[in-house]
Amino acid sequence: MTTTQPGPAPVARDGRLAVVDPATGLAFDHAPDQRPEQLDALVSRAHAAWRGWRADPAARRAALLAAADAVDAAAGDLAPLLTREQGKPLAESAAEIARTAARLRYFAGLAEQALGPQPITDGRPVRTELRWRPLGPVAAIVPWNFPLQLASAKLAPALAAGNTMLLKPSPYTPLATRLLGEVLTGALPEGVLTIVTGREPLGARLVAHPGIRQVTFTGSIPTGRAVAAGTAASLARVTLELGGNDAAILLEDVDPERIADRLFWAAFRNCGQVCMAVKRVYAPAHRYAEVVEALARRAKSVVVGPGSDPDTQLGPVNNAPQLARVERYTARALADGARAAAGGHRLDGPGYFFAPTILADVPPDSPVVTEEQFGPVLPVLPYRSLDQAVAAANATGFGLGGSVWGTDLDRAEAVAHRLECGTAWINHHAELSLAQPFAGVKESGVGVAGGPWGLYGNLSPFVVHRPEEA
Ligand code: NAD
Repeated sequence: MTTTQPGPAPVARDGRLAVVDPATGLAFDHAPDQRPEQLDALVSRAHAAWRGWRADPAARRAALLAAADAVDAAAGDLAPLLTREQGKPLAESAAEIARTAARLRYFAGLAEQALGPQPITDGRPVRTELRWRPLGPVAAIVPWNFPLQLASAKLAPALAAGNTMLLKPSPYTPLATRLLGEVLTGALPEGVLTIVTGREPLGARLVAHPGIRQVTFTGSIPTGRAVAAGTAASLARVTLELGGNDAAILLEDVDPERIADRLFWAAFRNCGQVCMAVKRVYAPAHRYAEVVEALARRAKSVVVGPGSDPDTQLGPVNNAPQLARVERYTARALADGARAAAGGHRLDGPGYFFAPTILADVPPDSPVVTEEQFGPVLPVLPYRSLDQAVAAANATGFGLGGSVWGTDLDRAEAVAHRLECGTAWINHHAELSLAQPFAGVKESGVGVAGGPWGLYGNLSPFVVHRPEEA
C-alpha cells in the first residue's frame, strides 16, 4: 500500500513555533520550539516525580479528580483556543474538552477498582498473587485533529496507572495542549506531566530516549513506522494508533433518506479529519444514484465557515499541507473520470477551506479510495454483489473501523462480522464509549486503548508465587 508522507513542519523563528489560524491562514501566536537537548532534564524530572506518584493510589485518584474539575472550569478558555488553532466549530471544541474531563474521571475510578491484588488459582497448593505495576515515564505523541481528546486518551490511563508522562502535541496545534498542561499541572505534583512542543526531530528523540519506558503514539502510518523503529534501541513498549480508511457498506434494504444525515456526518465531522471517519461508501448499484444524491444534498446545504462563528457546521482543514493533500486526491480522482456530485474544489478567500465534496463514479483504484484522504471529501462506489463490497472494504492495508447500514439489523450484523477491522458499527459510525477497547488491525495499529484494556496497557504484571506452607 502507498501512503502519503506527512507534510512539512510549520515555520519557526527565534526559537518559537508560529501557530496559524486555519480560518485565516495567518499566524496568530507562538509556542516554544523546544530542542531535543532539553529532553534529558525533562525525562529525569519525570523519573524523580514517578517515585512519589506511583506510591500513593488514593492521592493519585484525588489529584486526577481535581484535575478533571479544573479542566471543566477552564473550558471557557480552552474551547476558543482549540477552535482558533485547530479550526473545528466551537461546539465540537467544547465537546472535546468535556470528554477530556470525563476521561480523567473514568480512569481515576477504574484504577481504584482494577489495581488491587488479584489471586490466581489453579488448584495447586500455592498462593499466586498478581499485582499491576506502573512502568515509569511514558512518552505520548499526538496529531492535530483532536489535540485535547487524544492527549487525554494518553494521559488519563497512563497517569491513573501510576506512570508519569511527557506529552508532545503536533506543532500545528500546540497551544490548547499547553494550556491544558497548565490547568492539569495545577492539580498534579510537579513533574508528573510535562508538555513539550517543537518541530522534529523533537518527537523522534523523545520516543528513542533511553529514560522512556513506554511510547504511545497516535498519527499516520509512515510516522508510526518511524516511531516503532525509534524504540528499537531502548526496547520501550510501544502502542500505535494509526490511520484508517473505514468503509461504510449500505445494504439493499437501506433507506438513503433516513440514514443520509448520520452517514454524512460520520464522514465529515471535524472536516473529515477523524481517524475512524467513513472514508468511502459502497452502495448497491441499483440504489447508487439515490445514495449519491442524498449525500450531495447534505454536502451542498452545510454551513462552512470559521469555527468561531456559532452558525458554522464545518470548519477549515487544519493546515496547508493537509489542504494540498485533499486537493491532490480530489484533482486526481476528477482527472481519472470521477464526477463531483457536490464540491470538488477549494473555497475562494483566505483560510484553508474546501467545499464538502461527494465524488461519484470514482475508479476503485483511485488514491482517494485506496489511501486516507483525511479531509472533507467522500467517494461513493457502486457494488453488484455483497461479496464484492466486503472484498473491496477489506482490500486495503488499513483496519481501523467499518460500518454496515440497512433495515434488517441481523443481516447487517452478519455482514459486519466479515469486516477486517477493530470496531464495526451498524447504522452509525465512530461512536465510542470510554469503557470499550479501541484497536486497529493490519496497519492501523498496535496495542489496545480504552477501558480496562487501555489501563492494563500502561502497566506491567508482577506475580508473587509462594507455597501454602514453608
Ligand atoms: P503525523 O504522523 O504526521 O504526526 C503525528 C505526530 O507525530 C505529530 O505530533 C508529529 O509532530 C509527530 N512526529 C512526526 N514525525 C515524528 C517522528 N519521526 N517521530 C516521532 N514523532 C513524530 O500525523 P498527523 O498528520 O498529525 O495526523 C493525522 C494522522 O493521524 C492520520 O493518519 C489519522 O488517521 C491519524 N490518527 C489516528 C488515530 C487513531 O486513534 N488511530 C486518531 C487520530 C488520528
